[in-house]
Amino acid sequence: MGQITDKKRIFLSSPHMSGKELKYIKEAFETNWIAPLGPNVDAFEEEVAKYVGASEAVALSSGTAAIHLALSLLGVGKGDNVFCSSLTFIASANPIMYQGAEPIFIDSEPDTWNMSPQALRRAFDDAMEEGCLPKAVIVVNLYGQSAKMDEIIAICDQYHVPVIEDAAESLGSMYKGKASGTFGRFGVFSFNGNKIITTSGGGMLISNDREALQKARFLATQARDAAPHYQHSQIGYNYRLSNILAGVGRAQLEVLEERIQSRRSIFNRYYEELSGLPGFMFMPELEDTFSNRWLTALLVNEEEAGISVKELLQALSEENIEARPVWKPLHLQPVFEGVHYYPHSEAESVSDFLFENGICLPSGSNMTDEELDTVINHIKKTVLKRKERMDIYSA
Ligand SMILES: *Cc1c(COP(=O)(O)O)cnc(C)c1O
Repeated sequence: MGQITDKKRIFLSSPHMSGKELKYIKEAFETNWIAPLGPNVDAFEEEVAKYVGASEAVALSSGTAAIHLALSLLGVGKGDNVFCSSLTFIASANPIMYQGAEPIFIDSEPDTWNMSPQALRRAFDDAMEEGCLPKAVIVVNLYGQSAKMDEIIAICDQYHVPVIEDAAESLGSMYKGKASGTFGRFGVFSFNGNKIITTSGGGMLISNDREALQKARFLATQARDAAPHYQHSQIGYNYRLSNILAGVGRAQLEVLEERIQSRRSIFNRYYEELSGLPGFMFMPELEDTFSNRWLTALLVNEEEAGISVKELLQALSEENIEARPVWKPLHLQPVFEGVHYYPHSEAESVSDFLFENGICLPSGSNMTDEELDTVINHIKKTVLKRKERMDIYSA
């Protein structure tokens, strides 16, 4: 489909450079550190680890690579099961397939839109009965909101199954005073172009298990043995982050707090202006958690609002405003057809509901006040127009 209007596009979440990135890139050029190693990589790792309060971090080429290495380090392979949040971007689960393992998807619960502890418990009960516990559990923190970590970690600990926390969307968020990403055996961040800070492409694996992260570095550099010649005793990957991109990451990390404040004030603005509309319900922030509000997400009740999410998306798209539906749950993806799925309760699949009724609004920290006004006004106008038409019909 071509451009429908000549209006300047308002993006969902576009890269927001601070300008200081060039300083680090220039340094890399001047010292000729143009490799997937170097001073920026070392410093970026240290700075991220310090920021979240983890022992150590490994800079990688993507968040997906970080999840893949975490699974590999936990020995996940053919014939193993891995529990994974269903309501997420497919990158959370793809590495399970790379390892030849079998995903089992767990539904969301309404308070956080993240993994339902009660569905997780049912999945563990069945796994116990079948004598086939999962090798790992991948928990996602959607749009910056932490999952119910206390409950989830308690269940996983009970069965001694390690947790990988997919915090790709929640860098800078907190759960009960502790940084998002630091709750599992491994935590994963992404610096993809659409994330709250970006290196254009990149990721980070964090852990308090230094030995495991040493192994991650080894696997990420083609698993090259310590020998004077090229020697390899196992299969590795080319997953390290470039020293140039790590420089971009260092400058971005310096402004992370500002980015979080911007995203949160964008959310607040939407909330103030739109939460009064009938049928508009914003994604909650669980008590004692702090969300980076990476994306402003909300539910639209078609009956009360007089408009469906699909129609609202269409109306925004006609104004060249990029909004998106909430992630399509993985248990509904054609590529995962037939995969086992545990809904929140036998009678209710929460992620199906969130997908059908959820929408993400433009939330980039580089949005101008005028752009924000444009989005808000257009939503109000669209809803009002619908309402009027409904009232005429029902009169
Ligand atoms: C972006 C994202 C990833 C993948 O990160 P990349 O750096 O793009 O590979 C994984 N999980 C979630 C939930 C994400 O949003």
